[in-house]
Amino acid sequence: MPTPAASPYLPPLHYRLLLRLAACLVPRSARTSWQARQDARLFHWWILAERGELPRRGRESAALLRGAFQDALQQRISPAAVTGMIRGPLFYLLTAACLFTLLAASTRCFAYTRHLVELALLLLPGPPGLRSDVLAGHAFILAISLTAAAAMLFIRHPPAHSGGWRYWTFFALQCALVLTFVPLVWIESGAALRACFPHHEGLRALSTLLLTLAYLPSLAAALAWVLADQRARCPVCLRRLELPVSVGSWSSVFDPSATEFLCDRGHGALLLPDSSAGAERWTRLDQSWAGLFSHSSG
Ligand SMILES: [Zn+2]
Repeated sequence: MPTPAASPYLPPLHYRLLLRLAACLVPRSARTSWQARQDARLFHWWILAERGELPRRGRESAALLRGAFQDALQQRISPAAVTGMIRGPLFYLLTAACLFTLLAASTRCFAYTRHLVELALLLLPGPPGLRSDVLAGHAFILAISLTAAAAMLFIRHPPAHSGGWRYWTFFALQCALVLTFVPLVWIESGAALRACFPHHEGLRALSTLLLTLAYLPSLAAALAWVLADQRARCPVCLRRLELPVSVGSWSSVFDPSATEFLCDRGHGALLLPDSSAGAERWTRLDQSWAGLFSHSSG
């Protein structure tokens, strides 16, 4: 078999350059062998193409190069590493930062919210201003929604014995982000929607009403998601627990149906009851279990 360099079937330069580009993604220690494998693959593919054995050459060449880039990317960032990053607390915070940035960029840095704050500062010391009805409406809905949110958190918060200061700090941060982000979306999207109907007072009122009706359940759903997300996190490392296993039985009183989750770093196992009657239980694993999870923590 001739070598690629000496063969009359040398693949075109742009294919080889694209493979070189993909090779830049591969870690340096594995780059040479990866490049040799891909060069050989391209060489054999090109022989078939030149012999006319590949009727859809364009599509297959694109698939070949796409596969090479995907493989190179997986060499650099393995799927397991990506999954591990998504399970970690940093992913949540980065996602929240991106959402806030997008909202700020699309609303001229929360223009309507800043307008309401300025209005409130004007009204506080003296007699009612021109737009006190707008401010009072927003303040009333905000007060109702935040009171309901506080009641929901008080009733359904994670058990007091869960985790340490990192666990509760992260929970407070999640709550603060949701309680800031959802009202901001409501205020700014309401202003944007009303601006679409500058001369139709009825449509403006209707859009405000519909948006407010959507806002309250949205805030409740977002908080429910935060509570569920926090419960599904390891109290030690704050990563999302995995490997759910069903235990117990719905017909048993002493061993009720529940789902047990495991921390992939080996910190412990969390038992979550499937019904509201049971209690959550966190079982910390000692160092004797460390060997089983060394591949994850490594
Ligand atoms: Zn853990």
